[in-house]
Amino acid sequence: MLNKDRAWIEVNLDNLEHNINEIKKVMQAGSEIMAVVKANAYGHGSVIIAKKLNEMGIYNFAVATLSEGIELRENNIKGDILILGYTNFENIEYVAKYNLIQTIVDYKYASRINTMGHKIRVHIAINTGMNRIGEDFSNIDKIIEMYKMKNLYVEGIFTHLSVADSNLDDDILFTKGQIQKFYYVINQIEEVGIDAGKKHIQSSYGLLNYPEIKCDYVRTGIIMYGVYSSKKDYIKTKLDLKPVLSLKVRITTIREIKEGASISYGRTFRSNSKMKIASVSIGYADGYPRNLSNKNAEVFVNGQKARIIGRICMDQLIIDISNVEKVEIGDIVELIGEEEEISAENVAEKSETITNELLSRLGARIKRC
Ligand SMILES: *Cc1c(COP(=O)(O)O)cnc(C)c1O
Repeated sequence: MLNKDRAWIEVNLDNLEHNINEIKKVMQAGSEIMAVVKANAYGHGSVIIAKKLNEMGIYNFAVATLSEGIELRENNIKGDILILGYTNFENIEYVAKYNLIQTIVDYKYASRINTMGHKIRVHIAINTGMNRIGEDFSNIDKIIEMYKMKNLYVEGIFTHLSVADSNLDDDILFTKGQIQKFYYVINQIEEVGIDAGKKHIQSSYGLLNYPEIKCDYVRTGIIMYGVYSSKKDYIKTKLDLKPVLSLKVRITTIREIKEGASISYGRTFRSNSKMKIASVSIGYADGYPRNLSNKNAEVFVNGQKARIIGRICMDQLIIDISNVEKVEIGDIVELIGEEEEISAENVAEKSETITNELLSRLGARIKRC
Protein backbone atom coordinates (compact mmCIF):
# COMPACT_ATOMS: atom_id res chain seq x y z
CA MET A 1 0.00 0.00 0.00
CA LEU A 2 1.09 3.56 -0.77
CA ASN A 3 4.18 2.29 -2.51
CA LYS A 4 6.37 4.88 -4.18
CA ASP A 5 4.08 7.68 -3.10
CA ARG A 6 6.06 10.74 -1.97
CA ALA A 7 9.41 9.36 -0.74
CA TRP A 8 10.80 5.87 -0.71
CA ILE A 9 13.97 3.86 -0.42
CA GLU A 10 14.76 1.19 -2.98
CA VAL A 11 16.82 -1.58 -1.44
CA ASN A 12 19.01 -3.49 -3.89
CA LEU A 13 19.30 -6.96 -2.35
CA ASP A 14 21.57 -8.19 -5.15
CA ASN A 15 24.06 -5.52 -4.13
CA LEU A 16 23.73 -6.63 -0.51
CA GLU A 17 24.59 -10.18 -1.55
CA HIS A 18 27.52 -8.90 -3.63
CA ASN A 19 28.87 -6.93 -0.66
CA ILE A 20 28.58 -9.91 1.68
CA ASN A 21 30.61 -11.98 -0.78
CA GLU A 22 33.22 -9.20 -1.02
CA ILE A 23 33.45 -9.03 2.77
CA LYS A 24 33.83 -12.81 3.07
CA LYS A 25 36.85 -12.67 0.74
CA VAL A 26 38.88 -10.77 3.34
CA MET A 27 37.65 -12.64 6.41
CA GLN A 28 39.77 -15.28 8.08
CA ALA A 29 38.69 -18.90 7.67
CA GLY A 30 36.41 -19.84 10.55
CA SER A 31 35.18 -16.28 11.07
CA GLU A 32 31.49 -15.64 10.58
CA ILE A 33 29.58 -12.47 9.79
CA MET A 34 27.53 -10.90 12.56
CA ALA A 35 25.32 -8.59 10.52
CA VAL A 36 24.77 -5.26 12.28
CA VAL A 37 21.19 -4.26 11.52
CA LYS A 38 20.73 -1.64 14.24
CA ALA A 39 18.95 1.64 13.54
CA ASN A 40 16.62 -0.02 11.05
CA ALA A 41 19.62 -1.53 9.27
CA TYR A 42 21.26 1.90 8.91
CA GLY A 43 18.01 3.18 7.43
CA HIS A 44 17.63 0.37 4.89
CA GLY A 45 14.83 -1.48 6.71
CA SER A 46 15.97 -4.09 9.20
CA VAL A 47 13.39 -6.76 8.36
CA ILE A 48 14.01 -6.58 4.59
CA ILE A 49 17.76 -6.79 5.14
CA ALA A 50 17.69 -9.52 7.80
CA LYS A 51 15.29 -11.69 5.74
CA LYS A 52 17.65 -11.59 2.79
CA LEU A 53 20.62 -12.38 5.04
CA ASN A 54 18.73 -15.36 6.51
CA GLU A 55 18.15 -16.59 2.94
CA MET A 56 21.89 -16.26 2.35
CA GLY A 57 22.64 -18.41 5.38
CA ILE A 58 23.58 -15.66 7.80
CA TYR A 59 22.19 -16.37 11.27
CA ASN A 60 24.03 -13.89 13.46
CA PHE A 61 22.70 -10.38 13.96
CA ALA A 62 23.43 -7.38 16.13
CA VAL A 63 20.98 -4.63 17.02
CA ALA A 64 21.33 -1.68 19.39
CA THR A 65 18.13 -2.00 21.38
CA LEU A 66 15.67 -4.48 22.82
CA SER A 67 12.83 -3.23 20.64
CA GLU A 68 14.93 -3.66 17.50
CA GLY A 69 15.53 -7.27 18.53
CA ILE A 70 11.84 -7.86 19.21
CA GLU A 71 10.95 -6.43 15.80
CA LEU A 72 13.21 -8.99 14.11
CA ARG A 73 11.75 -11.86 16.12
CA GLU A 74 8.18 -10.75 15.41
CA ASN A 75 9.07 -10.92 11.73
CA ASN A 76 10.43 -14.45 12.06
CA ILE A 77 14.11 -13.66 11.68
CA LYS A 78 16.09 -16.77 12.63
CA GLY A 79 19.37 -17.06 14.45
CA ASP A 80 21.19 -15.28 17.25
CA ILE A 81 20.41 -11.63 17.88
CA LEU A 82 22.82 -9.69 20.11
CA ILE A 83 21.67 -6.40 21.66
CA LEU A 84 24.81 -4.25 21.58
CA GLY A 85 23.44 -1.60 23.91
CA TYR A 86 21.83 -1.26 27.31
CA THR A 87 18.51 -2.81 28.30
CA ASN A 88 16.95 -1.52 31.47
CA PHE A 89 16.32 -3.95 34.32
CA GLU A 90 12.52 -3.74 34.23
CA ASN A 91 12.56 -5.06 30.64
CA ILE A 92 15.17 -7.79 31.05
CA GLU A 93 12.50 -10.49 31.02
CA TYR A 94 11.83 -9.69 27.34
CA VAL A 95 15.41 -10.54 26.45
CA ALA A 96 14.62 -14.08 27.58
CA LYS A 97 11.08 -14.14 26.21
CA TYR A 98 12.23 -13.24 22.67
CA ASN A 99 15.37 -15.37 22.85
CA LEU A 100 17.73 -12.43 22.43
CA ILE A 101 21.29 -12.03 23.73
CA GLN A 102 22.06 -9.10 26.01
CA THR A 103 25.38 -7.27 26.14
CA ILE A 104 26.75 -7.05 29.67
CA VAL A 105 27.88 -3.44 30.00
CA ASP A 106 29.84 -4.00 33.23
CA TYR A 107 30.11 -6.10 36.38
CA LYS A 108 27.49 -4.12 38.30
CA TYR A 109 24.96 -4.63 35.53
CA ALA A 110 25.67 -8.36 35.42
CA SER A 111 25.30 -8.72 39.19
CA ARG A 112 21.91 -7.05 39.22
CA ILE A 113 20.58 -9.01 36.24
CA ASN A 114 21.76 -12.20 37.92
CA THR A 115 19.48 -11.51 40.89
CA MET A 116 16.37 -10.99 38.75
CA GLY A 117 15.37 -14.61 38.29
CA HIS A 118 15.43 -14.80 34.48
CA LYS A 119 17.90 -16.96 32.63
CA ILE A 120 19.56 -14.56 30.21
CA ARG A 121 21.91 -15.28 27.30
CA VAL A 122 24.72 -12.69 27.30
CA HIS A 123 27.95 -11.53 25.71
CA ILE A 124 30.33 -9.61 27.96
CA ALA A 125 31.65 -6.28 26.63
CA ILE A 126 35.25 -5.55 27.60
CA ASN A 127 36.57 -1.99 27.76
CA THR A 128 40.02 -1.91 26.18
CA GLY A 129 40.21 1.84 25.50
CA MET A 130 36.97 3.04 23.94
CA ASN A 131 35.73 3.96 27.43
CA ARG A 132 32.08 3.66 26.40
CA ILE A 133 30.62 0.40 27.72
CA GLY A 134 32.37 -2.73 28.93
CA GLU A 135 33.99 -4.06 32.07
CA ASP A 136 37.55 -2.85 32.35
CA PHE A 137 40.03 -5.35 30.87
CA SER A 138 42.14 -5.29 34.02
CA ASN A 139 39.34 -6.55 36.31
CA ILE A 140 40.01 -10.21 35.60
CA ASP A 141 38.46 -11.47 38.83
CA LYS A 142 35.19 -9.71 38.13
CA ILE A 143 35.13 -10.94 34.53
CA ILE A 144 35.67 -14.54 35.65
CA GLU A 145 33.00 -14.14 38.32
CA MET A 146 30.48 -13.12 35.65
CA TYR A 147 31.06 -16.42 33.86
CA LYS A 148 29.98 -18.17 37.06
CA MET A 149 26.74 -16.27 37.67
CA LYS A 150 23.95 -18.82 37.65
CA ASN A 151 21.33 -16.82 35.74
CA LEU A 152 23.69 -15.68 33.01
CA TYR A 153 24.57 -17.90 30.08
CA VAL A 154 27.79 -16.24 28.97
CA GLU A 155 28.03 -17.22 25.31
CA GLY A 156 30.51 -14.64 24.14
CA ILE A 157 32.89 -11.79 24.87
CA PHE A 158 33.85 -8.81 22.75
CA THR A 159 35.53 -5.44 22.58
CA HIS A 160 35.23 -2.48 20.24
CA LEU A 161 38.07 -0.64 18.50
CA SER A 162 38.00 3.15 18.66
CA VAL A 163 40.44 4.19 15.89
CA ALA A 164 40.51 1.28 13.45
CA ASP A 165 39.92 3.82 10.64
CA SER A 166 43.22 5.66 11.12
CA ASN A 167 46.74 4.99 9.86
CA LEU A 168 48.54 7.37 12.19
CA ASP A 169 51.34 5.53 14.01
CA ASP A 170 49.93 6.47 17.38
CA ASP A 171 46.46 5.22 16.47
CA ILE A 172 47.77 1.94 15.08
CA LEU A 173 49.72 1.45 18.29
CA PHE A 174 46.59 2.19 20.30
CA THR A 175 44.52 -0.30 18.29
CA LYS A 176 47.16 -3.00 18.66
CA GLY A 177 47.08 -2.29 22.38
CA GLN A 178 43.32 -2.80 22.44
CA ILE A 179 43.65 -6.13 20.64
CA GLN A 180 46.41 -7.22 23.02
CA LYS A 181 44.34 -6.29 26.08
CA PHE A 182 41.40 -8.30 24.77
CA TYR A 183 43.52 -11.41 24.24
CA TYR A 184 45.07 -10.94 27.67
CA VAL A 185 41.54 -11.19 29.12
CA ILE A 186 40.78 -14.28 27.02
CA ASN A 187 44.00 -15.98 28.16
CA GLN A 188 43.26 -15.28 31.80
CA ILE A 189 39.75 -16.74 31.44
CA GLU A 190 40.98 -19.84 29.68
CA GLU A 191 43.80 -20.32 32.13
CA VAL A 192 41.29 -21.11 34.86
CA GLY A 193 39.55 -23.64 32.62
CA ILE A 194 36.57 -21.54 31.52
CA ASP A 195 35.41 -21.51 27.90
CA ALA A 196 35.34 -17.80 26.98
CA GLY A 197 32.70 -18.41 24.29
CA LYS A 198 32.42 -16.59 20.97
CA LYS A 199 35.02 -13.85 20.59
CA HIS A 200 34.67 -10.73 18.47
CA ILE A 201 36.58 -7.49 18.01
CA GLN A 202 36.21 -6.11 14.49
CA SER A 203 33.53 -3.91 13.00
CA SER A 204 33.78 -2.77 9.37
CA TYR A 205 37.05 -0.84 9.68
CA GLY A 206 38.50 -3.39 12.06
CA LEU A 207 38.09 -5.93 9.28
CA LEU A 208 39.39 -3.67 6.49
CA ASN A 209 42.47 -2.50 8.37
CA TYR A 210 43.18 -5.45 10.69
CA PRO A 211 42.05 -8.42 8.57
CA GLU A 212 44.62 -10.68 10.24
CA ILE A 213 42.57 -10.84 13.46
CA LYS A 214 41.08 -14.30 13.79
CA CYS A 215 37.82 -14.22 15.74
CA ASP A 216 34.50 -16.04 15.74
CA TYR A 217 32.57 -13.04 14.43
CA VAL A 218 33.15 -9.88 12.44
CA ARG A 219 30.48 -7.29 13.25
CA THR A 220 29.86 -5.79 9.83
CA GLY A 221 27.75 -2.68 9.62
CA ILE A 222 28.36 0.10 7.14
CA ILE A 223 30.34 -1.82 4.49
CA MET A 224 27.58 -4.43 4.22
CA TYR A 225 25.41 -1.59 2.92
CA GLY A 226 27.97 -0.92 0.21
CA VAL A 227 29.48 2.35 1.37
CA TYR A 228 32.40 3.54 3.46
CA SER A 229 31.84 5.83 6.44
CA SER A 230 33.70 8.65 4.77
CA LYS A 231 36.00 9.23 1.83
CA LYS A 232 38.71 10.46 4.19
CA ASP A 233 39.15 7.19 6.08
CA TYR A 234 42.23 5.06 5.90
CA ILE A 235 41.34 1.78 4.20
CA LYS A 236 44.04 -0.85 3.79
CA THR A 237 41.86 -3.47 2.09
CA LYS A 238 39.60 -1.84 -0.49
CA LEU A 239 36.57 -3.88 -1.42
CA ASP A 240 34.40 -3.63 -4.52
CA LEU A 241 31.31 -2.37 -2.73
CA LYS A 242 27.96 -1.55 -4.32
CA PRO A 243 25.50 0.76 -2.54
CA VAL A 244 22.33 -1.00 -1.41
CA LEU A 245 20.16 2.07 -0.91
CA SER A 246 18.71 4.68 -3.22
CA LEU A 247 16.44 7.46 -2.02
CA LYS A 248 13.72 8.60 -4.39
CA VAL A 249 10.97 11.21 -4.20
CA ARG A 250 8.53 13.05 -6.49
CA ILE A 251 8.33 16.37 -8.28
CA THR A 252 5.25 18.05 -6.81
CA THR A 253 5.01 21.46 -8.53
CA ILE A 254 6.83 23.19 -11.36
CA ARG A 255 6.96 26.96 -11.80
CA GLU A 256 8.86 29.71 -13.59
CA ILE A 257 10.24 32.54 -11.51
CA LYS A 258 11.50 35.98 -12.48
CA GLU A 259 14.96 37.41 -11.89
CA GLY A 260 15.30 38.55 -8.25
CA ALA A 261 12.64 36.21 -6.87
CA SER A 262 13.39 34.61 -3.50
CA ILE A 263 12.96 30.95 -2.68
CA SER A 264 11.88 29.22 0.53
CA TYR A 265 12.19 30.29 4.17
CA GLY A 266 14.45 33.19 5.04
CA ARG A 267 14.69 34.24 1.35
CA THR A 268 18.26 32.95 1.44
CA PHE A 269 18.29 32.18 -2.29
CA ARG A 270 17.61 34.92 -4.91
CA SER A 271 17.50 34.17 -8.60
CA ASN A 272 19.93 36.00 -10.93
CA SER A 273 17.74 35.41 -13.91
CA LYS A 274 14.55 33.73 -15.01
CA MET A 275 14.49 30.18 -13.66
CA LYS A 276 12.42 27.04 -13.76
CA ILE A 277 12.09 25.46 -10.34
CA ALA A 278 10.28 22.51 -8.81
CA SER A 279 9.19 21.55 -5.33
CA VAL A 280 10.08 18.05 -4.23
CA SER A 281 8.44 15.78 -1.65
CA ILE A 282 11.08 15.30 1.03
CA GLY A 283 12.42 17.40 3.87
CA TYR A 284 14.55 17.33 6.97
CA ALA A 285 11.87 15.49 8.96
CA ASP A 286 12.58 12.58 6.62
CA GLY A 287 16.25 12.74 7.51
CA TYR A 288 17.49 14.65 4.49
CA PRO A 289 19.91 17.06 6.23
CA ARG A 290 18.80 20.67 6.57
CA ASN A 291 22.42 21.79 6.48
CA LEU A 292 22.47 20.93 2.76
CA SER A 293 20.46 24.13 2.17
CA ASN A 294 22.20 26.39 -0.37
CA LYS A 295 25.19 24.05 -0.67
CA ASN A 296 24.66 23.18 -4.34
CA ALA A 297 23.63 19.67 -3.31
CA GLU A 298 22.92 17.70 -6.44
CA VAL A 299 20.01 15.43 -7.30
CA PHE A 300 18.98 13.55 -10.43
CA VAL A 301 15.70 14.19 -12.26
CA ASN A 302 14.96 11.74 -15.06
CA GLY A 303 18.66 11.01 -15.25
CA GLN A 304 19.62 14.70 -15.47
CA LYS A 305 21.46 16.69 -12.82
CA ALA A 306 19.71 19.42 -10.84
CA ARG A 307 20.59 21.20 -7.61
CA ILE A 308 18.82 22.08 -4.39
CA ILE A 309 18.21 25.81 -3.88
CA GLY A 310 17.03 27.77 -0.83
CA ARG A 311 16.37 26.38 2.61
CA ILE A 312 15.32 22.78 2.98
CA CYS A 313 11.93 22.65 4.77
CA MET A 314 10.56 20.00 7.12
CA ASP A 315 8.68 18.06 4.44
CA GLN A 316 9.70 19.64 1.14
CA LEU A 317 12.57 21.18 -0.71
CA ILE A 318 13.07 23.09 -3.94
CA ILE A 319 15.33 22.36 -6.89
CA ASP A 320 16.50 24.29 -9.93
CA ILE A 321 15.30 22.50 -13.06
CA SER A 322 16.17 25.27 -15.55
CA ASN A 323 18.38 22.85 -17.47
CA VAL A 324 16.26 19.74 -17.10
CA GLU A 325 14.34 18.62 -20.12
CA LYS A 326 10.88 17.10 -20.19
CA VAL A 327 9.98 17.24 -16.53
CA GLU A 328 6.46 16.72 -15.25
CA ILE A 329 4.67 16.65 -11.93
CA GLY A 330 5.09 13.17 -10.43
CA ASP A 331 8.49 12.57 -12.02
CA ILE A 332 11.09 10.86 -9.88
CA VAL A 333 13.97 12.69 -8.20
CA GLU A 334 16.86 10.65 -6.84
CA LEU A 335 18.75 12.16 -3.89
CA ILE A 336 21.03 9.31 -2.79
CA GLY A 337 22.09 6.49 -5.07
CA GLU A 338 24.73 4.90 -7.25
CA GLU A 339 25.71 7.99 -9.27
CA GLU A 340 28.94 9.53 -7.98
CA GLU A 341 27.38 12.97 -7.35
CA ILE A 342 24.68 11.53 -5.12
CA SER A 343 26.67 8.72 -3.51
CA ALA A 344 26.06 8.46 0.23
CA GLU A 345 29.76 9.32 0.74
CA ASN A 346 29.43 12.58 -1.21
CA VAL A 347 26.11 13.63 0.28
CA ALA A 348 27.42 12.88 3.78
CA GLU A 349 30.63 14.81 3.18
CA LYS A 350 28.70 17.86 1.95
CA SER A 351 26.55 17.59 5.06
CA GLU A 352 29.67 17.41 7.25
CA THR A 353 28.90 13.97 8.59
CA ILE A 354 29.52 10.28 7.86
CA THR A 355 27.36 7.94 5.82
CA ASN A 356 26.42 6.02 8.99
CA GLU A 357 24.60 9.09 10.31
CA LEU A 358 23.11 10.18 6.98
CA LEU A 359 21.61 6.77 6.22
CA SER A 360 20.51 5.81 9.73
CA ARG A 361 18.55 9.04 10.09
CA LEU A 362 16.41 8.41 7.00
CA GLY A 363 13.07 8.40 8.69
CA ALA A 364 9.96 6.38 9.33
CA ARG A 365 7.88 8.29 6.76
CA ILE A 366 9.99 6.84 3.97
CA LYS A 367 8.73 3.49 2.72
CA ARG A 368 11.32 0.79 2.08
CA CYS A 369 10.81 -1.35 -0.99
C1 LIG B 1 27.59 -0.08 15.34
C2 LIG B 1 28.55 -1.08 15.83
C3 LIG B 1 29.21 -1.91 14.91
C4 LIG B 1 29.12 -1.75 13.42
O1 LIG B 1 29.97 -0.72 13.02
P1 LIG B 1 30.32 -0.43 11.50
O2 LIG B 1 31.44 0.53 11.55
O3 LIG B 1 29.10 0.15 10.87
O4 LIG B 1 30.69 -1.72 10.87
C5 LIG B 1 30.02 -2.92 15.43
N1 LIG B 1 30.19 -3.07 16.76
C6 LIG B 1 29.59 -2.25 17.66
C7 LIG B 1 29.83 -2.49 19.11
C8 LIG B 1 28.76 -1.24 17.23
O5 LIG B 1 28.20 -0.42 18.11
